[in-house]
Amino acid sequence: MPKIICGEAAGCINGGRLWDRMFDLAQYGALPNGGVNRQALCDEEILARHCLVRWGKAMGLEPSNDAAGNLFLRYRGTQPNLPAVMVGSHIDSQPTGGKFDGPYGVLAALESVEAIIDAGIRPQRNIDVVSWMNEEGSRFAPGMMGSAVFSGARKLEHILEIRDKAGISVERELKKVLAAEPDVPRRPLGDKPAAFLEAHIEQGTVIESANKTIGVVTGMQGKRTFHVYVTGEESHAGTSARRTRRDALVSAIDIVHALQQAMWDAEDVTQFTIGMFTVSPNAPSVVPGRVVFSLDLRHPDAAKLRDLGDEIPKICQAARGRCEASVSQLLHDPPLEFPAAIRQLLCTAASALGVGWMEMPSFAGHDSRYLHYVCPTGMIFIPCQDGISHNEVESIRKDDAMDGARVLAESVLALANATSAIWP
Ligand SMILES: [Zn+2]
Repeated sequence: MPKIICGEAAGCINGGRLWDRMFDLAQYGALPNGGVNRQALCDEEILARHCLVRWGKAMGLEPSNDAAGNLFLRYRGTQPNLPAVMVGSHIDSQPTGGKFDGPYGVLAALESVEAIIDAGIRPQRNIDVVSWMNEEGSRFAPGMMGSAVFSGARKLEHILEIRDKAGISVERELKKVLAAEPDVPRRPLGDKPAAFLEAHIEQGTVIESANKTIGVVTGMQGKRTFHVYVTGEESHAGTSARRTRRDALVSAIDIVHALQQAMWDAEDVTQFTIGMFTVSPNAPSVVPGRVVFSLDLRHPDAAKLRDLGDEIPKICQAARGRCEASVSQLLHDPPLEFPAAIRQLLCTAASALGVGWMEMPSFAGHDSRYLHYVCPTGMIFIPCQDGISHNEVESIRKDDAMDGARVLAESVLALANATSAIWP
């Protein structure tokens, strides 16, 4: 593992430049209350991508994209045939998202590379700043699509078929986004990077409460997501007898209640959320014939996550009443732990720079999950005010943003100068 944190790159981090870029990027999809609506593959994201390419080119980076819509900006190393070190996050947002969420990670990565360039350093390995396609998964579910396809966890043809609520496919939107970048060369899909680093806002209050600046992420809790389909029969609200109705909403509510009870734990470790709920035909005088809702289940323990998730279809069947119920699983990601060597590097960089750090798990999912399966991967968090995220008022401190970029710059540089012999 590379030991040398020289501080030269960190010394060239320009906090004002990083801060201004976050606000510049937030213009694309800007909302009235200071947030951003820049859902995956929308027109505003196209403009934001063009902006990243402009910034990258201005500092001499080589842009490229892949068939999954991931965008890369390469700083060429002295030994360009070695696997690259990748660093980045995502720039798509929730419908009423903040401006820092993923963009901080992409722009801190870009700032890290610019600092390395400003320090007059050309490392051995290429450094690829990356913006992964559709991390949020709010328009096209599930999220982390670009990183999942890049890492081989999901097939491109499977994500192309996925449609948003308006019936528009990923395939159509992806074509549009890539067509809007005629001057950006296409790179082959998939790669085996030397390593991947991601900086992100914490989206919780752990670092803030501990009065630290950096959270070195130990790993991620596991996650399973499902859709539940409840089918009854539409009928007239005035003329159909209540005892014979097959009211999908009534059954769905009974199922929701049973699930909430089954997923409750006194320690408050199990995370369980029903965030989407649609009733059809959703008309005041029609007994609902169909309900579809989402389940999001998370737990740090693999066995517990498996057992709880496996209970869900049984609970739905037991509570469905006079309607039909079916459950389909969209995702099953087990908990994971990032390699100790990468965590050690991040801790060492923070210590060497005098930045207060702590180790902590990630309760949210990030693109690093999928990169973890193809290369040594690590993450750092910076605090976000009161832990508020996926909200227009999301806020971070300029000094924290800068310190995060300093730690990131030194860590990326150390990895980019490491020879293959250092990897276990
Ligand atoms: Zn994010």
